[in-house]
Amino acid sequence: MEAHTLSEGFHCDRCGLCCRKVGKFPFMKEFDRGDGACKHLKDDNTCAIYENRPTVCNVDRLYEERFKDDMTRDEWYRLQYEGCRELKEENGNGNGRERF
Ligand code: SF4
Ligand code: SF4
Repeated sequence: MEAHTLSEGFHCDRCGLCCRKVGKFPFMKEFDRGDGACKHLKDDNTCAIYENRPTVCNVDRLYEERFKDDMTRDEWYRLQYEGCRELKEENGNGNGRERF
């Protein structure tokens, strides 16, 4: 994945993969539409409740509320990018066209 600087903020390319995996996480069960994907995920891979999405879906809010004392924001972003990369390696590049 290409590198992004802190000043740009976290860069999500809307592959949609993380939103299709909520069924794997017990704390996201209420979001599972039945096939493991989030009921708020729209066809264009955007979030129908973006402004009110839970903290776990908000990279910056999650950092501020839970991780800012443990690492820098750059380190946090790097962890997120690593998670995105692993998801893409496991599932293709997202956009709803790969195997799930
Ligand atoms: S896996 Fe990463 S790039 Fe894909 S939608 Fe989720 S946060 Fe965005
Ligand atoms: S609430 Fe929005 S950001 Fe969170 S998993 Fe669902 S669609 Fe994705």
